[in-house]
Amino acid sequence: MPLLSLHQLRQGFAHMFFPVLCEGCRRPLIDGEQVLCLSCCLEVPETSYHSRHDNDTEQRFSGRFPFVRATSWAWFTPDSLLQHLVHALKYHNRPEIGTWLGTRLGEQLMAAGWAHDTHMVIPVPLHPSRQATRGYNQSSIIAASLAAAMQLPTGNNHLHRIRKTDSQTQKTRTERAENMAGAFEVRDTAGIAGRHILLIDDVLTTGATLEACALALLAVPGVKISIATIGIAVS
Ligand SMILES: [Zn+2]
Repeated sequence: MPLLSLHQLRQGFAHMFFPVLCEGCRRPLIDGEQVLCLSCCLEVPETSYHSRHDNDTEQRFSGRFPFVRATSWAWFTPDSLLQHLVHALKYHNRPEIGTWLGTRLGEQLMAAGWAHDTHMVIPVPLHPSRQATRGYNQSSIIAASLAAAMQLPTGNNHLHRIRKTDSQTQKTRTERAENMAGAFEVRDTAGIAGRHILLIDDVLTTGATLEACALALLAVPGVKISIATIGIAVS
């Protein structure tokens, strides 16, 4: 048996007294598991959409703006395990959940061949004041690990949220689009001209936010857009 390093010993003791629990079933995670245990992982309803054109994610954007491809990792339903994970990521200071989710999706997109013609990954930005309250932008956390899994660079300084928008939850699709229009601005346009950008968000609902981001980016000459989200909301 190999000798344990001091770090491994410390980790072992920490796990003994403060075991890391599965976010799904609250059982202690074993070696190699993060966030969810293997059996809870298998419960997440993944879409397997990444190689399927005209999938439900693509249909939500169809006819609204040109894109190369679009996909989502899993179905996002009320009171689901995925809703719990995204809620913890956004409101309970759990950035490691975003890192884990981004890695899952990034590995799948890599396997589906998305990296070969994509130049950079850009997250949907939060307004600076909201980011200051939350401490981080959940989409940036997802985008960072997703980009690492796809061996692509991230571009965090090209797309900016310049206007704080009202909550979208009580709005119709048209009201959401109006609410979002002009909320984003592209800076350093030379850095993205002619690039194929993979735009990342946590959960796709009507797509008004992603549409506003895409329209801002598409105003730069030669830009092409693809989209990937962790969840696709269904009621
Ligand atoms: Zn579990």
